[in-house]
Amino acid sequence: MKKIKQCPICKSKKQNTFLKSRDYSVSKKDFTIVKCIDCKFLFTNPRPEERDMGDYYISDNYISHTNNKKGLFNYLYQIVRKHAIVTKTKLLINTSATRNHLDIGCGTGEFINSCVKRNINCIGIEPSRIAREKAINNYKLNVKADTDLNQFKNNSFDSVSMWHVLEHIYDINNTISCLKNIIREEGTLIVAVPNHKSLDAKIYKKYWAAWDLPIHLNHFSPLTINRLLKNHGFKLEKKIGMKFDAFYVALLSNEYKSGNKQFIKAFTIGILSNLSAILGFSQYSSTIYIFSNKK
Ligand SMILES: [Zn+2]
Repeated sequence: MKKIKQCPICKSKKQNTFLKSRDYSVSKKDFTIVKCIDCKFLFTNPRPEERDMGDYYISDNYISHTNNKKGLFNYLYQIVRKHAIVTKTKLLINTSATRNHLDIGCGTGEFINSCVKRNINCIGIEPSRIAREKAINNYKLNVKADTDLNQFKNNSFDSVSMWHVLEHIYDINNTISCLKNIIREEGTLIVAVPNHKSLDAKIYKKYWAAWDLPIHLNHFSPLTINRLLKNHGFKLEKKIGMKFDAFYVALLSNEYKSGNKQFIKAFTIGILSNLSAILGFSQYSSTIYIFSNKK
C-alpha cells in the first residue's frame, strides 16, 4: 500500500478522512477515501501499489469485458450498452470534426468499431488481454496493449476518449500532460467519470458502487475534474449527464448493501437520481465532460 502525501490536483498536504468503505466485489478489504482540504478532491489513500492492482480486478461484476452472460440483469445491461455505443458515437461526431481518434481503455472494442464504420480512423488502448483479443478478433481493430501515451507523436489525434478510465489512473497529471501533447490544438478530449455529487451517491453512502474501491483511485466532481484539466490548459466546453448509470450503480449498490440487486428499489432510485439531476438538486450519477485543447 502506498500513502499519497500531496493532493494530485492542488499539491496541498492537508487532507481529511472522507469515507471508509470496502472492496465489496473482490478482496472484501477495507479502504479509505480522503478529501483535500484545499481543493475538495477525493482520492483513495492509501492505495495498493500499481503492480498489485491486478489482484483487485478479477470479478464477475466486472462485466464490461465480457458480453456472453445470461440473466435479466445482463440482458438489460447489453441493451443499454448498445444504446450507449450509438449515443457515444453521435456525441463524438457532433462535438469534433475528427478523422483520427484514440480510445483509451477500449475494452472489447464496440465503441471504436462503431466509429470506424463512420469512417473515423481509430486506435484503441486496452491493457486487459482477454478484452483486447476480442476487439482484434471480432472487429479487426487496431488495439494496443501498451498504455504509455508517449508511443504516439505530438498532435497525432483530433480527439481522444476515456470512458470511465480516468478514475482508475495512478498518475493523472502525467496522463493529462501526455494527452495535451498527442491531441492537436483545438482538438477534443472526452472524459466520462462517476460523479459523487449525485443523489445515488448520497443515498448509498459507503455502499455506493461507483466508489469501486480500490480500483477507483480518483473520485471526481465537476469542480475537481475541471480544475485538473484547466491546470493542463484544457477548456471545459460541455457537460452531459449519463442517465443510465444511476440504474446500474443502484443495482450493484443494493447488492453490496443487502446481497440482492432489488430491481424495483434500484429502478426507483435510478429515477429519483435522474429527476433530482434534471431539477438541479444534485447531479447525474456519471458525467461526460468535453474539453478542448488550448495550446
Ligand atoms: Zn487539492
